[in-house]
Amino acid sequence: MKKKKYWIIGGVAAGLLLLLSIIMAMMMMLSNKSCKTGGTADIGGGSTGGGGAWTQVGTEAYKNAEATFKSWTEKGMSGAQAAGIVGNIGGAEDTGFVLNQAEIGGGTGGGLYQFTPASKYLNDPKSDKSWSVENQRDVVIDLEPATVKQFFADTKGGSPEDAATAWMNYYERPSAAARANTNSARRAAARTAYELFGGANISGSDSILGDAAATADGGSNAQNDENQCSSSSTGAGGDWGWPFASIKNNNPAISGEQLFGHSTSRTGNFHDGVDFGDAAYGGQEIKAIHGGTVYKIGHKGVTQNDLGYYVCVKSDDGYYEVYQEFAFSDSQAAKYIKVKEGDTVKTGDTIGTLPKSGSETSPLVNHVHIGVSKKEISAAESSAFRNDGTWLDPVQLIKDGQSK
Ligand SMILES: [Zn+2]
Repeated sequence: MKKKKYWIIGGVAAGLLLLLSIIMAMMMMLSNKSCKTGGTADIGGGSTGGGGAWTQVGTEAYKNAEATFKSWTEKGMSGAQAAGIVGNIGGAEDTGFVLNQAEIGGGTGGGLYQFTPASKYLNDPKSDKSWSVENQRDVVIDLEPATVKQFFADTKGGSPEDAATAWMNYYERPSAAARANTNSARRAAARTAYELFGGANISGSDSILGDAAATADGGSNAQNDENQCSSSSTGAGGDWGWPFASIKNNNPAISGEQLFGHSTSRTGNFHDGVDFGDAAYGGQEIKAIHGGTVYKIGHKGVTQNDLGYYVCVKSDDGYYEVYQEFAFSDSQAAKYIKVKEGDTVKTGDTIGTLPKSGSETSPLVNHVHIGVSKKEISAAESSAFRNDGTWLDPVQLIKDGQSK
């Protein structure tokens, strides 16, 4: 009797499972973004897709991969950035570099960037329906100008590996599981592309991509481009620097949800700055990452879900920086904030102190959040939960902007 009961339960469960998988398959077909979970391609061995291995000189796949690389460098991407994009294709999305992957895949997606469904490419006003490398790139820019622009800004000066991860997170946006499964393949493929196609010799250029992106999104970043170009010449903001003296070799102890950008736990899946934790940095002075004037010290909320006290700095080269969440109560502010409104700070000057881990602070302080924008901070807060280009990655700016 028991057995029979289990049979019935088992039958119902199997039916439900079948139903669930049909629903999921339908959802994936309807979803307008790639959900590919495969792609742990063995780059060393070379993956094939009808056109040979893209890592093998002379194959059709190699030619397409090289053309894809060039299609981005000619838009202003650096060699590392173009390699990051190629790495996503060669490491996971379309490992055989078949231009119209739909022809062999038979799924709803298509192309180097897995436009899903393929009609998303075919119906775009910029599409000439040729599936050429250049035209697919043009459609990518047309579909997501802000994404491309943000990728360009955030990975400037970075490694091909980090560009690969950024392109995955910003543009491809696979599921969390697929991210975990394919990130290393994308990164390895980016390195391979970087070396194969001479990425080290190609530096990025603001203007070409800036124009393309600006036209596409209404020209709102024209001012940004201008500021970026003049940022180092005036010296007003000065160099960029790490907020803690113990950070050496450009290697801060931050990871996962502390990083800028994609966040699994936050509203909008976005973290608008970087969190430096007290476990690694408690007890140390918080230093200005960029020089400027302390134009505002404010206070909003007393719990860890709030900003707490925040210190806003305006740099002369168009950047604004905010240091927040390292003091919540008035007594904490008195103790840990070391500047006042109107003060001028140079890069490396003390802004405050991050309380020691487990010290007497109440409400508990366990990190300092640092944000950077080219918008005035209170205006930028309206994009706190949206990766729309308002907030910039402080780590990248610091890495790129130190005195050499
Ligand atoms: Zn934060």
